[in-house]
This record gives sequence, structure tokens and C-alpha cells, in this order.
Amino acid sequence: MANMTGGCLCGQVRYTISVDPVFAGVCHCRNCQRYTGSAFETVFGVPEAGLKIEGELKTYDDKGDSGGTVHRRFCPNCGSGIVADASIMPGIRIVLTGGLDDPSQFKPAMEIFCDSAQAWTQSTDARQRFPRMPG
Ligand SMILES: [Zn+2]
Ligand SMILES: [Zn+2]
Repeated sequence: MANMTGGCLCGQVRYTISVDPVFAGVCHCRNCQRYTGSAFETVFGVPEAGLKIEGELKTYDDKGDSGGTVHRRFCPNCGSGIVADASIMPGIRIVLTGGLDDPSQFKPAMEIFCDSAQAWTQSTDARQRFPRMPG
């Protein structure tokens, strides 16, 4: 796979993904809705060795639905979400894909927390849909 690159809105934070993501998904949980200021968050799961980040990040420690901690890391200057690290997913970094230089590289294969999805986001595409976090 060719490297995928991306960054925040202001350009202070840049990242490179150098391995194939282990998952590509859409999260409809209420925390992702509030965090993104939108209806859902789009993410790649990337093994930590395959993600390089340049620039400083600020961290908000969020509580995941499972009770674990989700460290949501964002650009301290422009606020763009860059990556999250969930205690229930050691070794995997959750990269927000809105900042990709070529956003079409993100093709979701599953949707999670569909219990709190907004009705207008329902898609008829063949994607796995989970009511909450799959086990
Ligand atoms: Zn920024
Ligand atoms: Zn979420």
C-alpha cells in the first residue's frame, strides 16, 4: 500500500499511515457526535507502528461506552481531531479520516453505535452495522 498522509485544518499537525488499516469504520456514538460537532466520526484502526505524527497534540480523556478511557487527541491550535487511543484497543490507534489529503482513501466497511445514529445517515450500502460496540 502507498503511504496515506493527512493533517489538521491549520497544518501544524501532519500524519503518515504506512500500513494497511485493520478496520475502517463509522462511529455514531453520542460522544463522537459531540466531539466532531457532526453526526458521526469516520476512523481507520492503524497498528501503532504504522502511524507517524508530526506536531504537538492536546488530549481530552473521554470515557468510552465500555467504561474504558478514550484519549482523544487534537490540534491545540485549530481543534481538529487527529487520533484517539482507547484503553480497550491496545496497540491500535484510531485515526480520524476527515484530515486525509485524499479523503477518498477512506471506504468504511462497518458502522458502530448505530443505536444512536441519526435517521438520515442510514445507508443501504452493504456494510456491517452494529447497535453498539461489537464484542
Ligand atoms: Zn491545526
Ligand atoms: Zn464513537
